[in-house]
Amino acid sequence: MPSATEILPYLERIDQGRWYSNFGPLVQTLERRLADRFGPQAHVVTAANATQALTLTLQALHLRPGALCALPSWTFVATAHAVAAAGLTPWFLDVTEEDWALSCGELEAQLANAPGPVAAVVVVAPFGRAAPVDAWLELRRRTGLAVLIDAAAGFDTARDPRLPTVVSLHATKVLGAGEGGFLVTDDASLAGRVRELTTYGFRGSREAQVTATNAKLSEYGAAVGLAALDRWDIDRIRWMSAAQAMRIVLAGQGGISFQQGWGVSWITSVCVVAFRDPVAERVAEGLNKRRVDSRAWWGKGCHASPAFGDLPRTDLSRTERLAASTLGLPFAIDLTTDDVNRLADALCETLSTC
Ligand SMILES: *Cc1c(COP(=O)(O)O)cnc(C)c1O
Repeated sequence: MPSATEILPYLERIDQGRWYSNFGPLVQTLERRLADRFGPQAHVVTAANATQALTLTLQALHLRPGALCALPSWTFVATAHAVAAAGLTPWFLDVTEEDWALSCGELEAQLANAPGPVAAVVVVAPFGRAAPVDAWLELRRRTGLAVLIDAAAGFDTARDPRLPTVVSLHATKVLGAGEGGFLVTDDASLAGRVRELTTYGFRGSREAQVTATNAKLSEYGAAVGLAALDRWDIDRIRWMSAAQAMRIVLAGQGGISFQQGWGVSWITSVCVVAFRDPVAERVAEGLNKRRVDSRAWWGKGCHASPAFGDLPRTDLSRTERLAASTLGLPFAIDLTTDDVNRLADALCETLSTC
């Protein structure tokens, strides 16, 4: 996160302008700077967090209430919460072993077996790895399904506004504002509808045009986001070099693999590795004994959460295997050589007993 010193000039602008929320100059600047990353067609709508941005985008798509919305079970629970909060029924699908994401082809094949009418699909960019936008655009054209991309962890990789895409600015993500998120889309009308939903359904007057909520990003949140953006070019290099230090040290340990391109062609704030065997839980225990923390970021998959236990799903055996064989290792932008070596030693000792 940016330091207090880096945020201060923006806070002083808030003091001078006495504009604290409701689309002030800092939110407007942040949205413009974010949109610039996606080209001239992009519209950006900031929100209090990515969960709200996902929910409100699904709501703004005016889908049939209660219809099924396909999503991978291999995602953070926020994706499923957003689908349910938008009045749709989450329908959990399996992901592929190679890229840990839904496959267009598999989704299309599953449509015939769907336990009800399917209105939409939320494609998750797993831990920030880019989703193949062309293929999903083509699926949208062919099937008429609404497609939304949950690229919450994909600040670095999300660059294409042709499908509505939501990115999180949570402190744990690679570019953080503390809390925050945004929708990017080339659809000006969709962006306008989502904007209304973030601000009580107001459309230029103080009358609510639609039932809505308050999900605005404040000027204070935007200040942190702008300070984070100011240093992104350098931070990206620092994240990449931390990732490469991890790759170098862990390359020596047999049977550990990274997401394709992680730390080489793209970056995110987490380091999720895959073991050859379903040993993630035992590795986590072994690391813990050696005072090294780790995270099963997505638990056993969304469908394993009690809140989502009764929802329809396809066979999820690949998701279950991923949950059992992957683990988030300690990772940070300022990881030192000592940190990495200590982790490697702990991992080496642990794996020899797994
Ligand atoms: C982090 C994350 C979210 C939630 O983002 P918030 O900004 O914390 O609401 C949603 N989906 C995925 C895949 C995430 O990684």
